[in-house]
Amino acid sequence: MSNIHPSVTAIKAFSDNYIWALSSNNNDSVALVDPGHAQVCIDYLKKNNLTLSAILITHHHSDHVGGIKELLEYAKEKAWAVTVYGPVNDNISQLDIKLKENETVTLTDLACQFHVLELPGHTHGHIAYYTNKMVFCGDTLFSAGCGRLFEGTADQMHQSLTKLANLPGETLVYCAHEYTLANLAFAQAVEPENEQLHKYVGQVKRLRQENQATIPTSIALERQVNPFLRCDKATVKLAAQKYNKQTNTSDSKVFAAIRSWKDNF
Ligand SMILES: [Zn+2]
Repeated sequence: MSNIHPSVTAIKAFSDNYIWALSSNNNDSVALVDPGHAQVCIDYLKKNNLTLSAILITHHHSDHVGGIKELLEYAKEKAWAVTVYGPVNDNISQLDIKLKENETVTLTDLACQFHVLELPGHTHGHIAYYTNKMVFCGDTLFSAGCGRLFEGTADQMHQSLTKLANLPGETLVYCAHEYTLANLAFAQAVEPENEQLHKYVGQVKRLRQENQATIPTSIALERQVNPFLRCDKATVKLAAQKYNKQTNTSDSKVFAAIRSWKDNF
């Protein structure tokens, strides 16, 4: 199958969630990523005359799965066949297809195929969906930040973020929250002299003043501005050492230090 980019639209939910709607120019089929809230999705489907065909879930938190039940009821009324995909290891009851590392999801109507990346850390089973030059990564990587360690270890999260950082630089990152501005305040505390970061703060402030989304970001940009992807850099290692007074400056220990610093920031 030729892998055509789906069009991606943000549906805003709660105070700062993005539910991603994937659609094609060729038909009215749509897939939703992490529909935590059903009504905003139903409103979007109605307004755009779209037919829901798939739901992709990254992890089990309620702001990501909370809308599934009501969306499936709505789909049943409409006689739509909806397939729900999600991680095998995150104990989500409504899944039709349970996914593991390296498995693929083929959405025929959208002419695209996703590769599954396992990203333990925020939850045990967290996964991302990657297709050429786009990744839907839930609450693992945010712009200038990363998810909290609710279930996994710092080592696991560091490995998961490294997996994302190794995707091609032009990959667009569709995370599930608009946290960028708050994350940048911390990123600047870690790397006050980072020029790219300074420039990015200006861009993000302008976008947020106009109530514009800062997502998607890109892997290339995150490598330059996100302290959690920069644990191998001398500046970040030094900042971590100042924070926790530890002498072990392995990338993974540096990650653990700045994650804990951010939790108390
Ligand atoms: Zn979460």
